[in-house]
Amino acid sequence: MSDCIFCKIVKGEAKSRKVYETEDTYAFFDIYPTTRYHTLVIPKKHYTTIFDIPEQELRSVITSVKKVAKLFEEKLGIHNIQIISNSGAVAQQEVFHLHFHIVPRKRGDGQNIKWNKD
Ligand code: 5GP
Ligand code: ZN
Repeated sequence: MSDCIFCKIVKGEAKSRKVYETEDTYAFFDIYPTTRYHTLVIPKKHYTTIFDIPEQELRSVITSVKKVAKLFEEKLGIHNIQIISNSGAVAQQEVFHLHFHIVPRKRGDGQNIKWNKD
């Protein structure tokens, strides 16, 4: 998808701060973090939501989500995270390239509701 910002990031046509990468997945810091180290994990191939991606490829993305969470645990001592994937505009999806938000949480981080980016 030529006009997709996350496809551009995968191709190196737009800048990102890489957290982790595999052959078919990419993880990078969210440009507007909800909490510190807020990270997005995406498949390198363009799919709109989890309902479009084949099971096998979704498995790779989930494996990377868990890997990033493990890295955060080991390197940053982060034990609590929210893993979120918004599907559809009404459900707050703004970038229509499948992504999982990894939102580290700690007591008193100011986010006292389950999920609200506003
Ligand atoms: P959504 O609302 O679609 O679930 O989340 C999209 C996320 O992508 C938002 O949290 C937003 O801050 C992030 N985002 C949008 N454009 C960019 C970008 O160009 N670079 C990075 N790193 N994050 C982006
Ligand atoms: Zn895309």
